[in-house]
Amino acid sequence: SPSALTVCHRGATMSHGWGYGPADGPDKWAENFPVANGPRQSPINIVTKEAQYDPSLKPLKPRYDPSNAKGILNNGHSFQVDFVDDTDSSVLTGGPLSGTYRLRQFHFHWGASDDRGSEHYVNGIKFPCELHLVHWNTKYPSFGEAADKPDGLAVIGVFLKIGAANPRLQKVLDALDSIKTKGKQTTFSNFDAKTLLPASLDHWTYEGSLTTPPLLESVTWIVLKEPISVSPAQMAKFRSLLFTGDGETPCCMVDNFRPPQLLKGRHVRASFK
Ligand SMILES: [Zn+2]
Repeated sequence: SPSALTVCHRGATMSHGWGYGPADGPDKWAENFPVANGPRQSPINIVTKEAQYDPSLKPLKPRYDPSNAKGILNNGHSFQVDFVDDTDSSVLTGGPLSGTYRLRQFHFHWGASDDRGSEHYVNGIKFPCELHLVHWNTKYPSFGEAADKPDGLAVIGVFLKIGAANPRLQKVLDALDSIKTKGKQTTFSNFDAKTLLPASLDHWTYEGSLTTPPLLESVTWIVLKEPISVSPAQMAKFRSLLFTGDGETPCCMVDNFRPPQLLKGRHVRASFK
């Protein structure tokens, strides 16, 4: 008999899609993307006492131009804010990186409740949400060319923890009403991504992968130690988005995270003591 709960049936009848449900979620990704079991997959659980302080890590230097913000899109897995990336006007240098990485987009992962949602864990602790700022190495001609190279991408991960309302985040959340369903997009301009970063840029770094298919092993991860704040009402706004498109049975966009993967001999370095 029908249950009182409505479940999402996303993916059950699709041959090419992937998602976060039982039929198409992280446990199934290896069927179409065998690198899911590769040697440098992300995310990971960061065990802080195992991370080695590396004094050779340079200060992390994000330099972003607010005029590069271009649009915001519900891609059916998350939402992303996209940036113009045809010049070196919004770039990341320093930290573990050699060379210059251009900002391409940022997006988030979050839970259905506050006890989960982040992709990285710290000593087994989960956060309700995690921000990813995605950059590509300008030694390659484009994001597409960089995305499958071992040093092609650099992603800054920022944890969100429940606290005061975050006014910088609110500008992003105010746009979500316009992109509630999969495939919707709208313009999003004059936004300084640096305002989403915490005061301290102390970080852990390791060699990993995209956390969504195609799971390419091309990401230098830079996970910031200091979280930024998000209020309960702001988390509710994330959860008001839908995985589904117009005309489909609505299904809330929640629990869009991949769980931690095996370290497989990798080392995590810390920029701080
Ligand atoms: Zn991500």
